[in-house]
Amino acid sequence: MARDPANTISISSLLKVKGWREIPIGGIIIDAGNSEEYQTGGWRSFRPIWDESKCNNCKVCWIYCPDGSIRVRDGVVAGIDLNHCKGCGICAKECPQGAIEIVEESRAEEKVRQ
Ligand code: SF4
Ligand code: SF4
Repeated sequence: MARDPANTISISSLLKVKGWREIPIGGIIIDAGNSEEYQTGGWRSFRPIWDESKCNNCKVCWIYCPDGSIRVRDGVVAGIDLNHCKGCGICAKECPQGAIEIVEESRAEEKVRQ
């Protein structure tokens, strides 16, 4: 039976791999502070929700956050940088006031509205 060329995928096209000069640079800090541009918040499956009314501004969360995602303005905790927070939950675990709750990302908007 004859093969229809329109339904044929060439093996060479499947095996085409990019050379090292064609792939993007990865795992390299090319400019000081460039991690700011990499919005790691997109990985998050859990979100910390901060309750300002329970917070005593001790900044334990700021000390422990591995991503520098606790915002502090004029010496006062001002919220969470969700563009960079990965949702690890350390801040909620360490907060002595129970002022940070971790919720599933899919429920977070609903929780914030409550
Ligand atoms: S650890 Fe809790 S109480 Fe302390 S600053 Fe952070 S949110 Fe506020
Ligand atoms: S969940 Fe993790 S990354 Fe996000 S603010 Fe808390 S400690 Fe930082």
